[in-house]
Amino acid sequence: MLARLRTIWPGVWGLAGVLAGAALTVQSVRTADTSLRAQWLTEARLMARAVDWRDVAALRGAADDVARPEYRRVKHKLEALRTAGSRYRFAYLLTRTPDGVVRFLVESEPQASPDYSPPGMAYAEATPALHRLFDDGVAMTEGPEADRWGVWVSALVTEPEPPAGRLPVVLGVDVDARDWRRALIQAAMLPLIGTLAFLLLTGLFVYARARNRAEHERLKSSEERLYVQAHHDSLTGLPNQRLLADRMQQALTHAHRMEKRAAILFLDLDRFKNVNDSLGHAMGDALLCTVAERLRALVREDDTVARLGGDEFVILLPEVRHDDDPRHVAEKIIDELARPIKIGDQSVSVGVSVGIAFYPDDALDTPGWLACADRAMYAAKDGGRNTFQFADPLQNVRARERLAIETGLRQALARGEFHLHYQPVFSLAGGTPVGVEALARWKHPEWGWVSPARFIPVAEDSGLIVALGEWILAEACRAAHRWQAFAPSLPVMVNVSALQLRRPGFEAQLAAVLRDSGLPPALLELELTESTIMQETLAGSAVLQRLAEEGTRLAIDDFGTGYSSLAYLRQLAAARLKIDRSFVADMCDDDEAHAIVASMVGMARALGLKVTAEGVESVAQRALLTALGCDDAQGYLFARPMEEAALQACLESGWPMDLSPASAPDKTA
Ligand code: C2E
Ligand code: MG
Ligand code: MG
Repeated sequence: MLARLRTIWPGVWGLAGVLAGAALTVQSVRTADTSLRAQWLTEARLMARAVDWRDVAALRGAADDVARPEYRRVKHKLEALRTAGSRYRFAYLLTRTPDGVVRFLVESEPQASPDYSPPGMAYAEATPALHRLFDDGVAMTEGPEADRWGVWVSALVTEPEPPAGRLPVVLGVDVDARDWRRALIQAAMLPLIGTLAFLLLTGLFVYARARNRAEHERLKSSEERLYVQAHHDSLTGLPNQRLLADRMQQALTHAHRMEKRAAILFLDLDRFKNVNDSLGHAMGDALLCTVAERLRALVREDDTVARLGGDEFVILLPEVRHDDDPRHVAEKIIDELARPIKIGDQSVSVGVSVGIAFYPDDALDTPGWLACADRAMYAAKDGGRNTFQFADPLQNVRARERLAIETGLRQALARGEFHLHYQPVFSLAGGTPVGVEALARWKHPEWGWVSPARFIPVAEDSGLIVALGEWILAEACRAAHRWQAFAPSLPVMVNVSALQLRRPGFEAQLAAVLRDSGLPPALLELELTESTIMQETLAGSAVLQRLAEEGTRLAIDDFGTGYSSLAYLRQLAAARLKIDRSFVADMCDDDEAHAIVASMVGMARALGLKVTAEGVESVAQRALLTALGCDDAQGYLFARPMEEAALQACLESGWPMDLSPASAPDKTA
């Protein structure tokens, strides 16, 4: 609204000026006209005073008046008055005879003149206004009118004080009105000039303002251009070192305040010099532009891709949510730049070496941070190019280990290196096994047994979990079918990861596994960690719903480590809740852990879920859990994960175990 007003106000202002100017002009012309007419009337009145009205009274307005001496005297007077000023043309006396006709009484024109009007001659120009003058005696003007004698105004007045009963006589003087028009034009001139001046000034003002604004815009845009030039690389348009330093400083301050981490990736193209030397600088420039584009497309909106110069780029990740984020980005970059780049009709391949440094882990200030990443980049180059290195040696060890695990995992399935171990879950009340959890084990030909805590996250990260999970599920169901001979109706509990659940074919695959193994669906319990469940979208929970409807039971694993709400848990068709072993481990010494376990048990019961405590290692823990009303327990106190043969032997030799406090050996590991 305000902006609109700002654009239309010169128009409104100008229009108001023009209207005011026009009103003033009209007013001024009117005033000039009125005052001219008043002046003429005054002149006519003065003439009327000079006339001898007694002589006039003797006249009758008939042709024989001419013979009277009064006529001659009056005519003489009128002639004298007319010739007193050159501006007067005719002076005459008019009367209205009883027949209602206005006639000449006396007239200033010589009798010899062709324009002479004798007494009694009808006055041809008598207007209704003139008739009114005979009635009301109010002086008036008529004209201006142009005739063969020029331009004239007639000023008409009556006898000053006519005696009662006598017909009124009107004195008319025709005044030269050639000046009338000029006077009016002159009167109009001043307001007109004023209006024009006003319009001119307004126009000038508007023009000056527009120019000013345009100049301001020009300055601003050139300032912006200068800023962009000063902070961006002219070849690729990416932020340059200066802007990067700013952004790094910002990221650092933000990370410090929020107690978060930030990372930079220092990139240096491998073999760029070759391209430049062999294909020329133009090609080199085109290559850098393509690399810049690809890098920009790889990272998130709020990440910064900067070019330091030459073939060096830096990527700033202002907020590292997961430890692995920078590594993922580095891997994506290496993959992306391994693809040949087409420049003109040539296709060239360059690689890239990446150094990764974290704030605050590796450095606490911007220059130190950049230097760290730079050193790591050189280490990557030394390490064989087309790779990345962390500034922190420990991170490198971890990354290498991950890579080794990932490489190993890719072959492990085909080589049959995976095994399943089984750990029973016992009822705390009866001591009988209520289920057996299948736990994956990997026996690497060189490293020996690898803990699932180490390889499952890598398998999930790399997507290998899908194939691995499929094998685990099938193998566990087959084993469960086999142990039915020793322990009828003892279910198997299988861990399932989020990635598996999210696969569209999961349900069909599950159905096929159950059919092939011959295991009834009711004897399979799927364990989903609480964080998996929280990650799943609604589509995921529809899957869970359908699985539950088909008879497969669901358990919430590692409960207490996620942040699920009670309302959410109610919607899930879970049958069991497994309290994470970290709470069980602390519950005897830590009141808080104890209270948490107590409330988890209470909550599970309120929701109608079976509750299992994981990682029970001591008699004291078992006693406490029993007292709290926990249904089942799993842990080294009862049995460690074991091979299928050992499990079968145990099942055969007979659980239930005696769970009375005195008899249970404390097998705390
Ligand atoms: P989880 O599902 O919570 O499995 C229980 C873990 O606790 C197992 O570790 C088991 O060996 C361990 N445990 C059992 N009793 C005790 C005890 O008294 N004290 C202690 N300290 N630990 C005990 P494991 O086998 O190393 O597995 C670790 C995690 O790896 C599992 O936690 C599960 O999340 C994952 N995992 C294992 N096998 C599979 C699998 O086949 N598929 C998937 N997706 N994940 C699996
Ligand atoms: Mg589990
Ligand atoms: Mg668990």
